[in-house]
Amino acid sequence: MVNITISFQAFILFIAAAVALFLTVFTVMIKFSMPKMKAILIKMELCTVGLLLFMALSYVFDGTKSPNGFIIVSVINAVGFLLICFILYCYIEYLTVLYMSKGRFNKLPDTLKNTFKLCVIWMLLSCLAVFTDRIYIIDENNYYKRGDYFYLASVIPLVIIVFLTVFIIQNRSIFKIKFTILFVASNCILIAGTVIQMFRFGDCFFEIAIFLVSVALYVFTLMEQNEELQLAAYTELKSGLPNAHGFFAIICQIIQKGNISNYNAYYFDVVGMGGMNNKYGDKKANEILISYIDLLRNWFEKDDVLGRLGGDFFVALVKKERTEEFMKVMSDSVVNVIINGNNQPVHVSSVVGGYKIDDTPQSPEKIMSKISTAISYAKNVSKERFVFIDDEIEKKLIEEKRNYDNILKGLENGEFVPYYQPKVNTETFELCGCEALVRWLKNGELIPPYKFIPLMERTDLICNLDLYMLEHVCRDIREWLDEGLCPPCVSVNLSRKNLNNENLAEDIHKIVSGHNIPVSLIQIEITETNDAYPLIELKKAVDKLHGFGFSVAIDDFGTGSSSISLLKEVSFDALKIDKTFIDYADDKEQKLLSYIIEMAKAIDINVIAEGVEEPVQVESLINMECTYIQGYVFDKPLEKHEYEDRIRRKKYPAIIQ
Ligand code: C2E
Ligand code: CA
Ligand code: CA
Repeated sequence: MVNITISFQAFILFIAAAVALFLTVFTVMIKFSMPKMKAILIKMELCTVGLLLFMALSYVFDGTKSPNGFIIVSVINAVGFLLICFILYCYIEYLTVLYMSKGRFNKLPDTLKNTFKLCVIWMLLSCLAVFTDRIYIIDENNYYKRGDYFYLASVIPLVIIVFLTVFIIQNRSIFKIKFTILFVASNCILIAGTVIQMFRFGDCFFEIAIFLVSVALYVFTLMEQNEELQLAAYTELKSGLPNAHGFFAIICQIIQKGNISNYNAYYFDVVGMGGMNNKYGDKKANEILISYIDLLRNWFEKDDVLGRLGGDFFVALVKKERTEEFMKVMSDSVVNVIINGNNQPVHVSSVVGGYKIDDTPQSPEKIMSKISTAISYAKNVSKERFVFIDDEIEKKLIEEKRNYDNILKGLENGEFVPYYQPKVNTETFELCGCEALVRWLKNGELIPPYKFIPLMERTDLICNLDLYMLEHVCRDIREWLDEGLCPPCVSVNLSRKNLNNENLAEDIHKIVSGHNIPVSLIQIEITETNDAYPLIELKKAVDKLHGFGFSVAIDDFGTGSSSISLLKEVSFDALKIDKTFIDYADDKEQKLLSYIIEMAKAIDINVIAEGVEEPVQVESLINMECTYIQGYVFDKPLEKHEYEDRIRRKKYPAIIQ
């Protein structure tokens, strides 16, 4: 009878060992987001396999009446004890890693430290047990019985498990409630297993309990991993806000509930983040952004949704009745950030594209598309801070898209041609250069730049145009040279948008040298504007262009706000004074003009006056010692063959005495 019972126990243990082995192999094969967890699980499962096998063997060998039987049973028991210690040790280690990985801790809590100590003590005790007959006594028939201290040895693991359970319950907010229940349930199995084992002899409840706990940990790890992956897929990690996928998922839920038309959807982008990076440095600018996110998080109500697409791009769903309040928050919010040791208020505002969600069928794609169109319209077309998309805007954008496609086709078909406007040296009244100005020859009609350049600037097509123009100018110069003409230097316009191209100077040089044209025949004109200059890029590009031997002019000087500082930072070769400066020059402006000319000469920069229409303007410019003049007074921008005549003729009539 006894024999059958033992075989049954052994059978159960063998089966459990096989399952544990299977889990171990599985754990080795699966990818884990936390490699430490994987290592602990493998250790723990391997020990469980070992324990179950040894215990199964102990049931097989218990009562073996051979001279070696005593030794075999003792060794099996001792190894079993050690494995139990080790499994408990892994369990504590697992909880430690999990607890620490939740991010906020760098110090091990006392409870875990004490359980580690207890575990080590127990391990030593178990070793001792092998050499004494305090815990187990093996009788003459090799059956083992419990010694005086058996209960003491069983109490220690019980204490450890109780400690761990209390620790888990105390930290349930960290372990999350679902997992706390799972842990506590596993521990209860362990406690029950230990207690039952204490009062019954010859059963293997404790070992089976340990096996169940290792299975529970395995399941827990997979669940945790799955949850982490889901969280990572739906959350923007730095802020913890929903990312694009998360925002999509939330929109879907709200649509399903039928509440979506209670909301307005927004796409917004913090204004001047680049400027903040320059002003405060990347780290402080980041702090400002984080404080801004906190401020928004507080402002948003429970039913609203705030998401972050990355960087300073955000999306939101806000209840319609709070639209005005939202506009206020977007137009100006103040965050407090410590700068140079002082708590300073920083004003932050955003450009917003909005969509008033109506009762028509909605989908996340439609909502996202509406708000991204709205913000791109706000940023690129209307330059307003807050735009709600409507039919009118969508029509305009369709129109813009059509124009864009036409321009692109025009570029491909070579419909854009350079016109050349002469520059005249008033000391000799000779042609001294020209500016290449684009014209669009579309179906026989000549379209002036103001009709297409703004769209090209908005869409960056301008960069294609500028290199296209350079290419065509170079072709023309090559022809003139081949015909034996001596063309003077041609200025080519370059939009500041090109400064994003790190290889700009190389690209320009490649085109020019590709036509075998001396670099002295090409000058690059870069416009001054009111926009914040990417000064570093500008300086780099100008230096590189100089390195290749090109001269560089600053165009429309005097129209921007940073003229003088720009001259200080970047070494231009020439300065073109804008038409507006020359046209309306009253006494004060005349004085300013003459100072600019004087100053430019003092720092060795050539001055060219643009848009000069009247001989009297020429006279006064000559008096101010401005030698180079470009304007209708001499010539309008000319077709290539007309300009060729000017090269041949060279001379202009001296329009003043
Ligand atoms: P801009 O570079 O300041 O060019 C000077 C503009 O003033 C030209 O207008 C020229 O025709 C005009 N102009 C010259 N003298 C007179 C004058 O005496 N009276 C008047 N009323 N106007 C005069 P355009 O050709 O219409 O070009 C306008 C702007 O388009 C240019 O201003 C330039 O910013 C841009 N642009 C033209 N071609 C290109 C190009 O190839 N690339 C880039 N990026 N921009 C270009
Ligand atoms: Ca120009
Ligand atoms: Ca100009």
